[in-house]
Amino acid sequence: MRPRGFLITCVHCHATRDWLIVEVGKVYIRCRCTHEWLEPDLDLDAFNDLFGAVHAVWASFDDAVRAEGFDGFLAGTMWI
Ligand SMILES: [Zn+2]
Repeated sequence: MRPRGFLITCVHCHATRDWLIVEVGKVYIRCRCTHEWLEPDLDLDAFNDLFGAVHAVWASFDDAVRAEGFDGFLAGTMWI
């Protein structure tokens, strides 16, 4: 993603894609390595542009992170 011309990159593992994007009034990105940050280059409009159909609902954020493989289990995995 290059919301403002800069490639979003995880400072921990240098991944440049395959994010869990979370909107809670502000937009956070979580990497497969579990690093998570507030992403100031993604505003709510950008989030809404990226948002697709709801395919699941979980009881907690931890459940969602685990179910979607963002709990560190798939750290370093590259989806092609
Ligand atoms: Zn990472």
